[in-house]
Amino acid sequence: MFEKNLEELRRNDLLRHILSRASPQQPVITLRGRRYVNFGSNDYLGLAGRHELGTAAAEALGSYGFGSGASRLLAGGSLLHDKLEKAVASFKKTGAALVFNSGYDANTGVIPALCTEEDVLFSDALNHASIIDGCRLSRAKTVVYRHKDVSHLKRLLTREKGRRKIIVTDTVFSMDGDMASLPEIYNLCLSIRSRPAAEDSLLLYLDDAHGTGVLGGGRGALAHFRLAPQPWIVQMGTFSKALGSFGAFVAGDRTVLQWIANTARSFIFSTALPSCVVAASLAALGIVRKEPRLIRRLWTLREMLLQGLQTLGYETGDSQTPIIPLRTSSVQDAIRLSSLLLGRGIYAPAIRPPAVQEPRLRITITAAHTEKQIAMLIRALAKGNKFLLRPGE
Ligand SMILES: *Cc1c(COP(=O)(O)O)cnc(C)c1O
Repeated sequence: MFEKNLEELRRNDLLRHILSRASPQQPVITLRGRRYVNFGSNDYLGLAGRHELGTAAAEALGSYGFGSGASRLLAGGSLLHDKLEKAVASFKKTGAALVFNSGYDANTGVIPALCTEEDVLFSDALNHASIIDGCRLSRAKTVVYRHKDVSHLKRLLTREKGRRKIIVTDTVFSMDGDMASLPEIYNLCLSIRSRPAAEDSLLLYLDDAHGTGVLGGGRGALAHFRLAPQPWIVQMGTFSKALGSFGAFVAGDRTVLQWIANTARSFIFSTALPSCVVAASLAALGIVRKEPRLIRRLWTLREMLLQGLQTLGYETGDSQTPIIPLRTSSVQDAIRLSSLLLGRGIYAPAIRPPAVQEPRLRITITAAHTEKQIAMLIRALAKGNKFLLRPGE
């Protein structure tokens, strides 16, 4: 069974393997017995390895034990879950927040909860797979607009009359590191909502997985653009990336969140996160609030890397964040470039279909990297130009 399918993947260099670390998730990791400088994690603030998270988890383990034994609606969650939700709502300046077991769970649960088969979802062409799956599960009509093209979105919106519309977008696109044009989308929503009798008919759902902890002093993309939360905006964020923990949240209007808690199937029909995981997320949120220098450091290192890449003549696409894609001419070249770096003690993964249409090396940097490690990456990349996509290819 599936041998032929696997063989086809192998032939096309699309067969992937699970790669397991023999060390914590840090700027230097051990893979297959060798140490590598790690440019493959989404641990943007370097919190995954911070002792405060472990200490908080250990303390919660003492108070609540490990397993949670039931869903939130059946007392599976603890007081720590409530505490985390209050902390998130206060951080995001929203009426309420709800914890989900993962970002994947949040998107596949919340999007279907926000619409019916009568409604229309408008989804950016490069949205994350979990959004695509959420749209499919919803059974609502899904209209895909061109990547970041707000005038295209506007045209498509005017075609759908008399139905509830939900615009769904990543704030930071996970494989390109570019950002949605949030101010434009926000203004478009305001203008549509200001029409008579259109009040209830438009929602904006933001996936801030890569904006949380990175943008807007850690508060995310809305805060970055100085846009105020609104009752018609639902923001999803994760604890699993910059916050170095695990799980996700949805933040927004109190009534909307009460509806989500009563209808999102991934929330209702799944066991609550262990309290020790929740405690680690709380500790991480505390660090983000108390140590703004971490975010400054992340952006300083990003500038350093970008300058080095520009000097070497590398194109970094529209990247505006610590996610930096280096597009290659082919899947094979992405693998070659990644292997060249491995040979120089650097781990930066090749990303290929189905994760992306266009193969690339995806580099992510974190506040925990050192200048020396960034310089080492730049030196190693000086040898890799020949694998890159050249303009016009
Ligand atoms: C990683 C990611 C998710 C999923 O979050 P998990 O907590 O890892 O399940 C959702 N959306 C985007 C944009 C992501 O990058």
